Amino acid sequence: MIYAANFKTNHTRKSTENYIEDLQRKLVDKNEEDRVFIFPPLTALDAYEGDFTIGAQNAYPVESGAYTGEVGVEQLAEFNINTILIGHSERRDILGESQEVVAKKFAFFKEQGFEIIYCIGESLEIREQGLEAVMEHLVSQFEGIDTTYENFMVAYEPIWAIGTGRTASVEEITMTHDALKKVVDKPLLYGGSVKGANIAQIAAIDNVDGVLVGGASLKTETFLELVLH
Ligand code: PEP
Repeated sequence: MIYAANFKTNHTRKSTENYIEDLQRKLVDKNEEDRVFIFPPLTALDAYEGDFTIGAQNAYPVESGAYTGEVGVEQLAEFNINTILIGHSERRDILGESQEVVAKKFAFFKEQGFEIIYCIGESLEIREQGLEAVMEHLVSQFEGIDTTYENFMVAYEPIWAIGTGRTASVEEITMTHDALKKVVDKPLLYGGSVKGANIAQIAAIDNVDGVLVGGASLKTETFLELVLH
């Protein structure tokens, strides 16, 4: 299983350092083959070493240059960061990233050899129209994406389940992941209100290879409930 923690705009440099120190001590109990990713805010990036991978929640698709407020590969390289989240629904919907922008980022970071967690997901309005409409939407989020890239995985995150406490049902996850695996044969994470109370059910679904976690990743205790379940 893959366990990815997305801190979003939470935690400081100091609290991230404390979190990682505490997590690393307790990760000795995890299954050897499981992978743990942590995506802290950009200001908390550092060259941490341990049984986990640190990634960037976002970056601009450049080496360096005149892009006020952004960071590029040069800044990430300082901390040995070569993992990135691309296409998160908050970046698409709140920060206005179009599919074209998302695809441009994907192509750039692929060229750089980054490991990419590529996020897709549908709104509640689309979910209510049924699986066919959901799949049509999800497939459209692969427009411009090289799905043959060897170093990427997909995170399926229904927008209506993110940060709402409302998880997709086992049936919804099963059917969507089964359909997605036929479109893109890559590790497939589920994201959307994953927590201690539902991890066993979700992790037991055949085509769920891991989870991307927001709220429940913010404290080491609640994240470890998932990793060590
Ligand atoms: C996310 O934003 O990637 C996410 C899954 O958040 P939460 O776990 O809080 O629903």
